[in-house]
Amino acid sequence: MGHDAHVAGGTNPLRAIPSVERLLRHPDAVALVARCRRERVVEALRMALADTRRALADGGVLPSDAALVAAATAFLDAGTAPRPTRVVNATGVVLHTNLGRALLADDAIAAMADAARGAMNLELDLITGRRGDRDALLADDLCALTGAEAGLVVNNNAAAVLLAIAALAGGREVVVSRGELVEIGGSFRMPEVMAVSGARLREVGTTNRTHADDYRKAIGLETGLLVKIHTSNYRIVGFTADVELRDLVTIGRAHGVPVLDDLGSGALVDLAILGLPSEPVVRDRVGAGADLVSFSGDKLLGGPQAGIVVGRRDLVERLAAHPLRRALRSDKIRLAALAATLRLYRNAPDLPAALPTLRWLTRPLAEMDTVGRAVAPHLAARLGEGYRVTVVDSEAEVGSGAAPTATLPSRALAVEHPDLSPDDVAARFRQATPPVIGRVHRGRFLLDLRGVFSPDDLAVTFA
Ligand SMILES: *Cc1c(COP(=O)(O)O)cnc(C)c1O
Repeated sequence: MGHDAHVAGGTNPLRAIPSVERLLRHPDAVALVARCRRERVVEALRMALADTRRALADGGVLPSDAALVAAATAFLDAGTAPRPTRVVNATGVVLHTNLGRALLADDAIAAMADAARGAMNLELDLITGRRGDRDALLADDLCALTGAEAGLVVNNNAAAVLLAIAALAGGREVVVSRGELVEIGGSFRMPEVMAVSGARLREVGTTNRTHADDYRKAIGLETGLLVKIHTSNYRIVGFTADVELRDLVTIGRAHGVPVLDDLGSGALVDLAILGLPSEPVVRDRVGAGADLVSFSGDKLLGGPQAGIVVGRRDLVERLAAHPLRRALRSDKIRLAALAATLRLYRNAPDLPAALPTLRWLTRPLAEMDTVGRAVAPHLAARLGEGYRVTVVDSEAEVGSGAAPTATLPSRALAVEHPDLSPDDVAARFRQATPPVIGRVHRGRFLLDLRGVFSPDDLAVTFA
């Protein structure tokens, strides 16, 4: 009788284990089946029974039916598989790609909920009753904010660049400076984007220096597009030269070749006015003559994930007519959020008050000090014996490739324990409810306070 052999004869506790059928009749299980599919409950009860069998084999005692159902409920509620969960971003990186980038404005959140709940005039012209165009819903605000003739929205900026190159230079050449051939995290490499879009990359200049003549010599009958790429996640310093957008536009015009300016983040307002490191402003780039400018919706703009292209009407229309456009388009929920965000840029008297991303970037140190001092003792108490929590100086950054070399003075909570490494402390915070993501800096675990707006944000529970 193999596995029964080591169990004391006569009173085999394994025989007393209830069946799944019996457990399903328990009142708690009946209640569970009312809120969760029966198959899932059966699966969870089997897991609880398997655990019990193992525990009994190790000399444990048989739990009550209620305890078994409770264990099954815990399995169902916990679920160990990764799924989307809200986390606290205490990394000090405001636009953190791994944590979902921009936080949306309340207006944008409300617009998303409205769009999700009901139908929308996504492609319906309410005046004529004819089929409309989803881009027309945002065109007015996009053009007013950027000074461009036309605009279009796709899934993200990677999609915007892909679409622009495919539509304007498919089967032809795209001229790019070697100093701008970026790789943006997650394998978005310009040379590969070109290959996928069916264009041939023509690199000009060297890593540190590219001159106007390099572009002029490269342009020929095969040239479909000149692309300028904002070196968003690095800077080339030292003996350098690059060609200003304005000069590139002059070269393009002389040869009848359009210029695409991929800004990456792209600010709609001059961030220097808010005391922040400055980033190219979309309106200035349109003003400098770029035929198309592309940028992300969820970087500095502070909206939902989106890729926005603005510029010459005839070119935007060519992008809109390309077959890839359909595959890359944005849905009603994100368009609603983006429309609400753009509306705030046009109307809100105080942008940092209206847009959480700008508020986060411009937070005064004194405010972070106040929150930090209020939170520190509570956090130490929740963490338990041996933990020390202190307010320290910190450096935050914009993230997502904006102002890569600039840091924002910030404050953090340093969380230390004499017997635990900073990585151990980091792991404990990642497993808290909700998970808190900090960073390890110079041998200490830090929770940057820039994204912690009230003490409640760090009122988490630890396992
Ligand atoms: C971030 C970035 C992209 C990609 O934008 P996504 O919205 O993340 O797709 C493309 N180009 C530049 C220069 C960037 O900084």
